[in-house]
Amino acid sequence: MRLLDEAASTTRIDKMHGRSWYRLLFDLINKKRHIVVEWVRAHTDDTNLESIMNDEADKIAKKAHISGLELDWPTMYLDKYTLYSAEHGYVEYSPATLIERSFNEHAVQSLSFGTREMVDHRIPKTSNIAPPKWLYTYSTKAYSVQVQACIRSHTLNTNWRRHQRESKDKRKEPHEIASPNCEFCDEVETERHLFVDCKHFASTRSKTSKEIKQLTQKAIQKAEEDEELALADNQHELLCYTATQILTDGSSWNDDECRSWMGFTPSTDHIFEHRDNIAQAKLIKRLHDGWHYAAVRMVGYIWGARQQQNWRRRKAAGEI
Ligand SMILES: [Zn+2]
Repeated sequence: MRLLDEAASTTRIDKMHGRSWYRLLFDLINKKRHIVVEWVRAHTDDTNLESIMNDEADKIAKKAHISGLELDWPTMYLDKYTLYSAEHGYVEYSPATLIERSFNEHAVQSLSFGTREMVDHRIPKTSNIAPPKWLYTYSTKAYSVQVQACIRSHTLNTNWRRHQRESKDKRKEPHEIASPNCEFCDEVETERHLFVDCKHFASTRSKTSKEIKQLTQKAIQKAEEDEELALADNQHELLCYTATQILTDGSSWNDDECRSWMGFTPSTDHIFEHRDNIAQAKLIKRLHDGWHYAAVRMVGYIWGARQQQNWRRRKAAGEI
């Protein structure tokens, strides 16, 4: 309404989205002097003409949301040069936004296909039959992604979580409630216990830790030699120190608590004061990617081993 009142000063709309429509409106108003624009209170049950017309307009607008309303663009009122894309029609917003939007759409499409493919086809379905042998060795990435999704949504079926759930179930007798303890030791089996603390997986952790150390040194070496990045001694040391704590609690983490099992990596912001160097940015990215991937893969491996142990135990107990 305010915009229509100001119809005379049309320069204001030159940068607005949908300006061709506004120009059409203004033109109609200016040409046909008998058009009066009036504000009408909406959503009343009044039976006067204005209210009824307003309700009708509402209905059409609602219908257009559901079934789509095809309207020809008022092309006469477009800017002199207007971008056009077969997919998006006439583009009145900035070309940068169009490019960003197109990239986003493309990424969403490729990702949705990739994820669906991973979840539906590459992971064999499991039920009460024996888990497939070492699932994660032939579909490591997909399995790790699945485990991460469960961890992040607090649905990984650890014994602790199962115990919590069954304790709340009124139909369960006390003796029917599953133990919350670890499959391998007597501690309570939480995610943190399995992935950070359980002694049974100490050797798995130390193996992955070695891998992390190696990939860190390699990445630094590559940056220094191939990309001529000059790291100060303390930066070199701090990076290696951070790498040693990826899988354990320590000062590299906020509150000293390891979170790599959830896919996080500790911050390296304090190591680099300036962030204007491409070689440095590449190194940081390479390190965080490497740390993340190594930790997430290890978590997938541990969960896979735990699943097998769980199945063996329940089979032996006649539960399956
Ligand atoms: Zn344990």
